[in-house]
Amino acid sequence: MLEDKNQKRTSVSELGEFGLIDHLTEHFEITQESTVKGIGDDAAVIDFKDKKAVISTDLLIEGIHFDLSYMPLKHLGYKAVMVNLSDIYAMNAMATQITVSIAASNRFPLEALEELYSGVQLACRNYKVDLIGGDTTSSNKGLLISVTAIGEAKEEDLTYRNGAKENDLLVTTGDIGGAYMGLQILEREKEVFKVNPNNQPDLSPYSYIIERQLKPEARKDIPQLLKELEVKPTSMIDISDGLSSEILHLCKNSNVGCNLFEEKIPLDQQVISTCEEFELNSTTVALSGGEDYELLFTISQEDYPKIKANPHLTVIGHMTALSEGIHLITRANTKIPITSMGWSPFNEDKNNDKND
Ligand code: ADP
Ligand code: MG
Repeated sequence: MLEDKNQKRTSVSELGEFGLIDHLTEHFEITQESTVKGIGDDAAVIDFKDKKAVISTDLLIEGIHFDLSYMPLKHLGYKAVMVNLSDIYAMNAMATQITVSIAASNRFPLEALEELYSGVQLACRNYKVDLIGGDTTSSNKGLLISVTAIGEAKEEDLTYRNGAKENDLLVTTGDIGGAYMGLQILEREKEVFKVNPNNQPDLSPYSYIIERQLKPEARKDIPQLLKELEVKPTSMIDISDGLSSEILHLCKNSNVGCNLFEEKIPLDQQVISTCEEFELNSTTVALSGGEDYELLFTISQEDYPKIKANPHLTVIGHMTALSEGIHLITRANTKIPITSMGWSPFNEDKNNDKND
């Protein structure tokens, strides 16, 4: 619905592969000291001196991970970078470089790829990461974009999924469920648009949750904040698939159980009201929704005074002995096992087609 049919369309073949790479990357700047050689040779060179290198890759495929009928290409470029930076921050590391590889069918003119790269560039600027390479090729159908993020950390700062201990507190950043509810709004508007293309919907009541879906921000501030507060998390993961799935990862890797308190889960008012409108349970949405790109981590109880007044951080539960299992403690004070599909009584209607 966002495709402008009157836009200029320059065929990529007019430029050739090298011309295209030059054209797309010419306005990117190198800002990191660790970038020794960026785009333009057979490989990039980076130097982290006494620090450890942290690397993460994601591949996004049109029709599976994104839908261009409501995802503007600039947002897609931005989000593809965010998804990867989020993984670096989840290691308690700082992201420094990315590579971006694309495969596009001839449905995508130069102008479309420029849009995509303008989003990549905005992400690079906002998060101070250098684009240092990639690959460019054609595809028979659709668009693929793969981003690799590289970061650095002191060895002693690196935080894995496996360090949570019994009695540690479970902490989340931000609020949960917004990206999923934003997607519900966008899917609904897409259906309305199919029936009536002239309909101009008022999406202002949903601005926050739509932004959470289309323009997520990775939590670069959190590793920095934790350092300032002198808190080293015992384990950490980013929330890409929903709270329940991430809690299960932390518990499984750390060999502990967990009690998560329903009443503590931070929800934005727009998430609550949109859940009411869609007759969805907001706890189910927080547990199974995904794509919030907040950080979920555990801390030792001793560190609680250091974080308790911080508006970015909410304690939502605590870790238990492995034998106690992994449970949601509801507002009614009942104990419900958390499964990979959310929490048991509400499993039936959950999205079985989730891709990650
Ligand atoms: P090779 O033939 O060795 O794979 P390429 O011609 O594909 O090299 O790439 C030339 C340079 O441009 C390399 O530095 C490569 O990392 C970079 N590059 C290629 N495609 C992209 C892209 N889509 N985005 C950013 N850099 C790219
Ligand atoms: Mg190549």
